[in-house]
Amino acid sequence: MNLLTVGNPKIQKGTERGYLSFILHLAPADLSGREVCPKRTAGCTQACLNTAGRGGMFRKGENTNVIQQARIRKTKLFFEDRITFMNLLVKDIELAIKQSTKKGLIPVFRMNGTSDLAFEKYEVNRKGQTYSNIFTAFPEVTFYDYTKILGRKIKNIPNYSLTFSAADGNDADVYRAIAEGYNVATVFGLKKTEPMPETYMGRTVFNGDDSDLRFLDPKNVVVGLYAKGKAKKDTSGFVKYPTFMMKAA
Ligand code: SF4
Repeated sequence: MNLLTVGNPKIQKGTERGYLSFILHLAPADLSGREVCPKRTAGCTQACLNTAGRGGMFRKGENTNVIQQARIRKTKLFFEDRITFMNLLVKDIELAIKQSTKKGLIPVFRMNGTSDLAFEKYEVNRKGQTYSNIFTAFPEVTFYDYTKILGRKIKNIPNYSLTFSAADGNDADVYRAIAEGYNVATVFGLKKTEPMPETYMGRTVFNGDDSDLRFLDPKNVVVGLYAKGKAKKDTSGFVKYPTFMMKAA
């Protein structure tokens, strides 16, 4: 079983800048019978990118496909046989490093493509040595993620970058995340042809759709994302409407 995949067109934009992103996609929310998004909201669960791209292509009359089934299998393995899962992950990352190097690209990794697990908590073994987590096992590469969980113990992990995710009903956490120095990803109800607002919540807005390489973003910004897929129809408050749009309405 391969755990990592090379991502979608937005991820591929990173290759123009010399990076290749490898992503772990688990089955989000509790789709596998196990919860992998402890701080999910009604809106983000509904709009989740789990069904973006090929993951959302279903045959007529079916509500699953090989991609969804693979995500469920991987999630079950994570919970039922953590050691095997982590060994596979180490193998996949080593392979990804080799593949990228051959292509002259820098490999970067997202463990939470469609989940929000605190991977800093899970021990791994690499080449016979035990490490407290996957990030310290691979100090030579960069990892990055979005999260809705505050207080994650990552300060001493220099090769892991986290961007906080705004959603419906987590404003208090957004303010705390800003105070703690996180960039905050915010989905705006804008068409791709419309410009991002210049500022939001008092911060400069940086267009996060130009690439997925969040670890390269400037500090202390709101990372603006265009609503995609189901999010375009969101009415939960997950998608935010900048003030200038409210005025125009
Ligand atoms: S927390 Fe993220 S991965 Fe989980 S359901 Fe919400 S949007 Fe999807």
